[in-house]
Amino acid sequence: MYSIIHHGAVSGVTGSCHQFKLYSGESLLVDCGMFQGAEAEARINESGDVDLTVDFDLSGVKALLVTHCHIDHVGRIPYLLMAGFKGPIYATQATAQLLPLVLEDALKVGVTRDRKLIDTFLRLLKRQLVAVPYKQWFAVEGMVGVQARFQVAGHILGSAYVELDVKQNAERKRVVFSGDLGAPYSPLLPAPKSPWRCDELIIESTYGDRLHEGRRQRRLALRRAIERSLQDGGAVLIPAFSIGRTQELLYELEDIIHRSASRSQAKAALWQSLDIIVDSPLASQFTAHYRSLKSLWDAEARQRVNRGRHPLSFEQLTTVDSHREHEKMVRYLRDSGKPAIVIAASGMCAGGRIQNYLEALLPDARTDVVFVGYQAVGTPGRDIQKYGPRGGYVQLGGQRVEIRAQVHTLGGYSAHADQKDLLNFVRRMRGKPQKIRIVHGDDEAKQALAAEYRRLLPGVEVVIPVG
Ligand SMILES: [Zn+2]
Ligand SMILES: [Zn+2]
Repeated sequence: MYSIIHHGAVSGVTGSCHQFKLYSGESLLVDCGMFQGAEAEARINESGDVDLTVDFDLSGVKALLVTHCHIDHVGRIPYLLMAGFKGPIYATQATAQLLPLVLEDALKVGVTRDRKLIDTFLRLLKRQLVAVPYKQWFAVEGMVGVQARFQVAGHILGSAYVELDVKQNAERKRVVFSGDLGAPYSPLLPAPKSPWRCDELIIESTYGDRLHEGRRQRRLALRRAIERSLQDGGAVLIPAFSIGRTQELLYELEDIIHRSASRSQAKAALWQSLDIIVDSPLASQFTAHYRSLKSLWDAEARQRVNRGRHPLSFEQLTTVDSHREHEKMVRYLRDSGKPAIVIAASGMCAGGRIQNYLEALLPDARTDVVFVGYQAVGTPGRDIQKYGPRGGYVQLGGQRVEIRAQVHTLGGYSAHADQKDLLNFVRRMRGKPQKIRIVHGDDEAKQALAAEYRRLLPGVEVVIPVG
């Protein structure tokens, strides 16, 4: 009755874009994301640019459903609109609020500074955006017999997995697209609940071969890494996505500071006088949205607010907005060697303001880089992670930068479900899928997860699609 075609997130984790196509010809897309790292390089065209044009036939594509507003899930939307897509873009209410901000930023950074062009695009986007509440079935325009529903995914604010209810003639099927699933004990947001039933599942596998540390160990690891880093002075650089990861980190740091009051005087003083700098205008905007949408927070976070705490805005927090301030801050930290925590995007160091900090501070042995998120193959982040501990170098903005900084990787911090969570997602469905497609992961992760699903559900058809 239908087929599924993948236009991304099959050879790695980026470029998510899946097409659900009825045999009658109409189809919908789930996500339309940007390629990054090695996957972007694989698309470099003759003129040396990454080819981001939507290279598949759009005839019959009636709608786009957006799971969440990370750039690797939404970054190709401008190209989709440029290619003439006029259908509705469905998203949860929070995602619909955040999406214009994310795309405006992406356009400004990577495509054009032409204000008029950006405004035209934003007008189109807002006209086509349809905000839908969580847990509510809606008919997908132009797709007869297809209803959809967004469910909490617990990955970032507004994130959802998509359930499709497909009725064609006498047949009825449930198809679930996981989007990115959150880890159950990640800060701030509630954990995803499994769908009641599912016939075919398209699931991410970012950490399909790994188990995360527990919540407590994770916070301890972050605290220790930072305390160790600060012993010799110098900055602690934390590359982080502006949306999701930055707010999670602030939430955890506020908690570490809060708890430090009951530790030794020295430790309490260290934490209470430490500067925490968020250098990303986009992150600050998102933080404001996170603050205003407390109804989407989990019980623990809301409890903290009730006790008079401000999990996302505390005294030592400095936000850097303008480019001038940013340059000043980089120079100041480089010349003074003063201890401070800097959180800046992009999360995989493939652009953004973090690059300027890295260029200035990687050659300084007092600097520490703390990775808390996934680093895709081919990104500078992955190279720093891999070659940094051996005293290697990294290419940044066409320059070779020596790494004398200490490099730490905290595995436990992840906005993604681990292997156990991905298995539980399926285990807790009342009606189990007959078919599972594994996407959005490195090869080893996909293979490992596939083996586990086959063990869990003998007879299930597990497919690892190729591009
Ligand atoms: Zn994501
Ligand atoms: Zn993703």
